[in-house]
Amino acid sequence: MNDAAFQQCIHPDCAATFDLGQSLYACPRCGSLLDVRYDWDRLRVPARLADFEARWQTRSQPLDHSGVWRFRELLPFAPDAMKVTVGEGQTPLQQADELAAFIGHDAGRLFLQYEGFNPSGSFKDNGMAAAFSHARMVGATRVACASTGNTSASLALYAARCGMTAWVFIGQGKIAFGKLSQALEYGGRTLQVAGDFDACMARVQEATDRLGLYLVNSVNPFRLEGQKTIMYRVLESLRWQPPDWIVVPGGNLGNNSAFGKAFIELRELGLIDRVPRVAVINAAGANTLYRLVEQEGLAWNGGCCDAGLVDRYYANMRAAGRKASTIASAIEINVPVNLAKCLRTLDATAGVVREVTDDEIRDAKAAVGKFGYGCEPASAASVAGLRKLLADGTISRGDRVVCILTGHLLKDPNATVKYHAEMGRELSNRPIPVPDDIEAIVAKIQEG
Ligand SMILES: *Cc1c(COP(=O)(O)O)cnc(C)c1O
Ligand SMILES: [Zn+2]
Repeated sequence: MNDAAFQQCIHPDCAATFDLGQSLYACPRCGSLLDVRYDWDRLRVPARLADFEARWQTRSQPLDHSGVWRFRELLPFAPDAMKVTVGEGQTPLQQADELAAFIGHDAGRLFLQYEGFNPSGSFKDNGMAAAFSHARMVGATRVACASTGNTSASLALYAARCGMTAWVFIGQGKIAFGKLSQALEYGGRTLQVAGDFDACMARVQEATDRLGLYLVNSVNPFRLEGQKTIMYRVLESLRWQPPDWIVVPGGNLGNNSAFGKAFIELRELGLIDRVPRVAVINAAGANTLYRLVEQEGLAWNGGCCDAGLVDRYYANMRAAGRKASTIASAIEINVPVNLAKCLRTLDATAGVVREVTDDEIRDAKAAVGKFGYGCEPASAASVAGLRKLLADGTISRGDRVVCILTGHLLKDPNATVKYHAEMGRELSNRPIPVPDDIEAIVAKIQEG
């Protein structure tokens, strides 16, 4: 196997390394998270990011078409023959001037990275393309995840295409029907665990250890390699000029961790000279990160973050019986597994964390939809978060801001219909009852 790529514990006092042939979800020595690392001096990396544009000419090759693998020199762990793609990452960056005007931002300065356009309808596909490639490298036949919905949809799709068996652990928290229907339709074996997401996450890790399943939650460092490419595509769309801000919802905190790693590596490679600031947005009903970082002062601290503070926080949370609860089911997570990596992102990008209420999320979602984009509730946390950051002066209206729309509008139709049926929401658009009578209908339409 390629030894210029390897796995490494992120804790600086440990920094143990492991080869690519192992399926590990935590450092066997100290329990910290693992990174995929590269010995860049022994690898060929394009001299300029613009060099990747050559692949636009060769899009008939599946690996050059994939929004993940056309950046393959920046995640060089898999031989080409092992790479898995189902056409992920054809996701546009949309300049959203009307939405900008609506929330008080300058025209030409707000962009939406529309990850709902992926094959299974969420950004998770970027990660699965990479994780399934590693699963093939290690000869896995059974893959598993705990999921609030989108991971299972994506897992089941990729497993079906790779001829692997998918085991999906879902909890008693909210799961949007669009997502559950996908896992079932793609043939995922779905275990309905009598516990919440955080319980599912613990059980799937135990089952993985006992049975040697291949785990694709975001503790899988290979998955995060695939999610780095979301940032490469954002840069590509902005003609390789980093924006001022990336605003992203935070659940298990894998996505922002991948973004941070992408920027740290690009800076090390001399491919960018400036790193955007990353804002991670929690739902107020699942706000562990917000409380720990913004209220308790938790920080990366060179990789030695205050573990005692985190332990005390969780002990208090359990003692109080506090469970995550938000309409944004994809981020309804109180024990985020990638906390440490997220702290690294915040440190490397001068990042910030905000929380937004369910009502703020619902109004922001309706605004995203009203101007013809559309997303699921968790995704709208990014736009709701931007509103907050504008209001508190952290972001100014001239800053170039990219909000990540993590999942498709159709993932959670119940949340959408319920919003529009309600009286008095900022943008509710109620169906208009009319009799089955053309005169009445014409009159109604003329009223406007
Ligand atoms: C998974 C998911 C998130 C949360 O991403 P993390 O990497 O877990 O922080 C947000 N939005 C949607 C739609 C998701 O599917
Ligand atoms: Zn370690």
